[in-house]
Amino acid sequence: MTDQQKLQSQLEERLASLDRRVAGLEGDLRSTHSQDWEERASEISGDEVLEGLEGAALDEIAQIRAALKRIKGGEYGECHNCGNNIGAKRLAALPYAVLCIDCASEAGS
Ligand SMILES: [Zn+2]
Repeated sequence: MTDQQKLQSQLEERLASLDRRVAGLEGDLRSTHSQDWEERASEISGDEVLEGLEGAALDEIAQIRAALKRIKGGEYGECHNCGNNIGAKRLAALPYAVLCIDCASEAGS
């Protein structure tokens, strides 16, 4: 197994676990609410937390899908902006990085 195949299977596993997490969060969000006003208020703030978690998971899912697409297209590891090699060290720290460190720091400033 090449490093890229290994990475691909890691990303696919992560994707599957995020999908399960989102499905679980949606189940929690759709569960019936109690009628009691005070309980309802605390459930609503709980829903905001759940929605935040769901949003973060969905963001990560989108990034993983994009990374998998780049792996399949043979573009993985190339900077989206300048086409240079992103570098193994940066990818190890940030597997879905689309920009090399130079472009990322320019974009961030
Ligand atoms: Zn670049």
